[in-house]
Amino acid sequence: MADIYINNGDELFAMTRELLDASGAARLFAAGQCVLVKPNLVVEKPPSEGATTHPEIVEAIIVFLRELGVTDIVIAEGSGVGNDTTRAFSVCGYDRLASGYGVRLLNTQKDEVRTVEVAGHSLGICAAALDADAIVNVPVLKGHCQTWLTCCLKNLKGLIPDREKRRYHTLGIHDPVAALNMAVRPQLHVVDAVCGDRTYEEGGTPVQTDQILLGFDAALIDSYAATLLGYAPEEIGYLKRVCELGYGQYADDSTEIVEFHKDRRRTAELPNRDRVRQLARHVDADEACSICYALLISSLNRAGTPKHGEIIHIGQGFRGKKPGRYGSGDCCRGCDTYAPGCPPKSKDIIAMLRGME
Ligand code: SF4
Repeated sequence: MADIYINNGDELFAMTRELLDASGAARLFAAGQCVLVKPNLVVEKPPSEGATTHPEIVEAIIVFLRELGVTDIVIAEGSGVGNDTTRAFSVCGYDRLASGYGVRLLNTQKDEVRTVEVAGHSLGICAAALDADAIVNVPVLKGHCQTWLTCCLKNLKGLIPDREKRRYHTLGIHDPVAALNMAVRPQLHVVDAVCGDRTYEEGGTPVQTDQILLGFDAALIDSYAATLLGYAPEEIGYLKRVCELGYGQYADDSTEIVEFHKDRRRTAELPNRDRVRQLARHVDADEACSICYALLISSLNRAGTPKHGEIIHIGQGFRGKKPGRYGSGDCCRGCDTYAPGCPPKSKDIIAMLRGME
């Protein structure tokens, strides 16, 4: 058995099936189990935008599980703060998938929440994730403005309520994400690396790479994924923490990788991390939620940086304070001018940026 399996091409259903068969993933499941499938539907945008999981990949997993006698399948997700999960299910094609195959859709924001004590953290986690017999994690390989990478480990944030997502950012994000991955351990990871946005987790600038990855160890896959985006695994804080805690290991020369259809490989430019860093110089962030921060960075990219070097404040750490002239999001309502919303809309952030004197 190899550590990571990779397939190349644009036939997503067939590619996924080939990986599932070749990897021997069938041994992980048994008839009569309840299997939770966790895609990434962080925003209400179709997969072609580079932020959400292609439903054809999940469809191949459902068919595979059904053939193994697994009848109780639930597709579970809680979209990013400020996004409507029900709408994301519809926009991303999961409504049709669920009705076509008779599987359940679960908005984890409406699920019971249970507390789990792990690695010094008290974490609220949706009950379905704790009760499932097995979990198949189906993230998108993409960039992230705060953590540089989001793939297997970070995708589990969709299994916690919004209040927990916000709280994670008050704890510096990396530690609680690592702890979450100690509490919830998917048996299988199938990574959508078809056209992930290599810079912004909310998509908008997809890069076509036409790959799907499969593996069993989230840290191993994430460390390999980090190198695909040009990052050293140690640069990804939550990944580093997981490995420090002994719950995973980085891919290295001994990692066995099996790749199919290498002739269909596509090349892709690395993300422009310098651009993100340059834009971030105009931001003063204190406990900012991921989606809020990403919206501000991508809006700065579209609207241009402030002419006179003004700083835009953002984050829960500024609640009830007057940090400066400009802010983004309701947490910064104490600023003279701010883009309202939790998170604010891109158009309102851009209007504020363009209106700066
Ligand atoms: S306004 Fe504050 S709480 Fe709301 S998304 Fe932004 S940082 Fe998070």
